[in-house]
Amino acid sequence: GARPDEDLLEGLNQPQRDAVVYRGPALLIVAGAGSGKTRVLTHRIASLLRTRDAWPSQILAITFTNKAAGEMRERVQQLIGERAQGMWISTFHSACVRILRREAEQFGFTRSFTIYDSGDSRALIKRLVKEHQGDAYGLTPAAVQGKISKHKNELADAESYARQANMEDPAERVFVEIFADYQRSLQRANAFDFDDLIAQVVYLFRAFPKVADIYRKRFRHILVDEYQDTNHAQYALIHELTRPPGSDAEPFAASGGMMIFEPEPTGEDAASLTVVGDSDQSIYAFRGADIRNITEFERDYPGAKVVLLEQNYRSTQNILSAANAVISNNFDRKDKKLWTDVGAGAKIIGFTGYSQHDEAQFVADEIESLHKGGLDYSAIAVFYRTNSQSRALEEIFIRSALPYKIMGGTKFYDRAEIKDAMAYVTAVVNPADEMAVRRILNKPRRGIGDVTETSIARYAADEGITFRDALANASALGVGPKIQAAITQLDKVLAEAAEIMIPASGELPPPTSVAEGVTLLLQKSGYLDALRVSKDPQDEARLENLDELVAVTREFARSNPEGTVIDFLTEVALVADADDLEDASGSVSLMTLHTAKGLEYDSVFLTGVEEDLIPHRISAGEPGGPQEERRLFYVGITRARQRLFMSLAMTRAQFGEVTVAMPSRFLQEIPADIIDWRQSPGDVNSRGGTQSRALNARRPGGSGSGFGGGSTSPRRFGDDLVPKGTSLDRFPNRVPARVRDNGAMELAAGDRIRHEDFGEGRVDAVTGEGAKRVAHVRFEKVGAKKLLVKIAPIEKL
Ligand code: ATP
Ligand code: MG
Repeated sequence: GARPDEDLLEGLNQPQRDAVVYRGPALLIVAGAGSGKTRVLTHRIASLLRTRDAWPSQILAITFTNKAAGEMRERVQQLIGERAQGMWISTFHSACVRILRREAEQFGFTRSFTIYDSGDSRALIKRLVKEHQGDAYGLTPAAVQGKISKHKNELADAESYARQANMEDPAERVFVEIFADYQRSLQRANAFDFDDLIAQVVYLFRAFPKVADIYRKRFRHILVDEYQDTNHAQYALIHELTRPPGSDAEPFAASGGMMIFEPEPTGEDAASLTVVGDSDQSIYAFRGADIRNITEFERDYPGAKVVLLEQNYRSTQNILSAANAVISNNFDRKDKKLWTDVGAGAKIIGFTGYSQHDEAQFVADEIESLHKGGLDYSAIAVFYRTNSQSRALEEIFIRSALPYKIMGGTKFYDRAEIKDAMAYVTAVVNPADEMAVRRILNKPRRGIGDVTETSIARYAADEGITFRDALANASALGVGPKIQAAITQLDKVLAEAAEIMIPASGELPPPTSVAEGVTLLLQKSGYLDALRVSKDPQDEARLENLDELVAVTREFARSNPEGTVIDFLTEVALVADADDLEDASGSVSLMTLHTAKGLEYDSVFLTGVEEDLIPHRISAGEPGGPQEERRLFYVGITRARQRLFMSLAMTRAQFGEVTVAMPSRFLQEIPADIIDWRQSPGDVNSRGGTQSRALNARRPGGSGSGFGGGSTSPRRFGDDLVPKGTSLDRFPNRVPARVRDNGAMELAAGDRIRHEDFGEGRVDAVTGEGAKRVAHVRFEKVGAKKLLVKIAPIEKL
């Protein structure tokens, strides 16, 4: 008869079907972008449930973002037509938090532990670097944080790192001390940082095989999307979970191991593992992602079935050809040919702007015309390499009243007032968290200054008690009556909130308890009053943000009727992670290329396609850097379904400096016949020898023809960005795919040159140096011009 999952196979091609119905121990799906990898995973989960080969509770699926997890869960439920309770579909981090909440007591933490996001751990590291005088050894908080993170991702803790470190080197010694101190501080604060969430679960499983067995027996089907971006710790976690239960059972260590749930009675086989990935899309090496996890899968899981998918269902042929052409420049990769049957589609559109503002205006104009053509804003995305590039785009979008959302970088939870509020909640839930308690100590101002804070900290260290306990005993330090009163008041507020949020009876508090607790903390601490009486106009916005936070807690109560304050803190910690995405219905999505992974849009704008941005200046000099940057560019291209735009700017203001930008080398890798280079608007009117419109628009009274009908053109952004005395109007708009670099041209006064548009002329003088070398030229036809030697379309005669 018909298979019970027949309908789930409809609309899949043969290799996709094979992957969905395969029922062996290990399955690897390797395929290029847009070939249906994520779709296959989703259908595979649905098929496992439909055929009753798995119960929902036996499934653990790992996605790259919380948003992707939500979408996959929804899609599976649509496919099987019922709610599948107990399925774990989440990111690595969320899954590990759930495990840690259950098991933390096994190894010296409590289940109310705090999660430090990268801002929190940066703050802690900053303090430690100062205490250890790290700056005297050239250690910056950022560098220390990066290094600690890297080692944790390789499952090296402070001790194992110290064993192989070169302790002759004083900087290394100090780093080791800071690393160890950092770890002790986390432990004392009952806190995990982001990397710990995964590493500590691996340690837990290794130290307590019986605990690991609970999860090995429970999760019979483990599925991982974007496997190419797993790091060593994540790899090890999957490896631990896919060992046969009982295989390395040791006597169960002490500490009252509690069972949270009875494992399902299953066989003693290892869980089945499905991973999907594309080594051409590995873009997180800087966070420790190891491409070998995918290339060596067959060695790690002998007998694994391998499925290749080659048909792309996302993009037009032109977009795919560009992607294939670019990525084929990476060496050391398996060539795979993606094909599509949707036809050539529109050509890629290229644009070179005068400045980043001009570029942004192009993007905004094109978006408007797509929108007028009937395309929803939410079907459009704009990508950039670095977060700071969004500013110019936002400026223009706001002026054009174009609805947009910044994805991934929603800094709501990074705002000071929100962090303060969350620190209050954390101080209630996890009194051991010194960072949280210290943060709220003098917020709002209570007259508790640095001197008092430091002496409390010293007292705590001397007595071996927590900061909070030391605070409660501040009278022993001889603080004045005013400070004592303030401390007593703070303590009272925290205790009152604790009663609401964590009832001493141990009963489950009502869902509204989080909202009530937060409101109480903000009111009774005087935090809101301080903002209300303030004359700082910013404080108005801060009050609004806090209102929004209370709204978030209410929403949380609605969607998690049994959710506790700990669940709330967990959710916040995880969504605050940079790669989470917002709902962008009705708006254009703006995001970095890294955030774009796994997503798709009808129309995509790749902006800032310049040397030093992509490939990025920093990665360009690192081993493997340019290749990783090329993969990132490939990821960007392959997000587009129908239309792809690539743009760059001739000058870009960055780090307070205006630099002359060069077209990205990757542009040259795209076949010329599939890109349609639009002239810059700055080029349109210059045919007849008149000034470019872009330039006119920047000059008061400029004719600004065509655009804005002769009235003052709106294009007035960035006047200040044009280097003074520089004529850039002949930047090589028409040939941006060719890198022009006259950097080495030796020019001197008296030389004769020919300019592509201005004709012949004589050099009067050369000023400046390097990329900013300017030639002052008197042209026979157009008179005096100043040209940037490096990029001007000139040749020496
Ligand atoms: P990426 O590498 O970017 O993560 P992917 O391989 O995961 O891509 P999906 O996102 O699963 O690809 O699929 C790309 C698009 O193609 C989606 O819109 C998906 O619905 C569609 N698609 C996949 N397989 C088929 C198919 N057999 N028939 C029709 N559409 C398909
Ligand atoms: Mg995918």
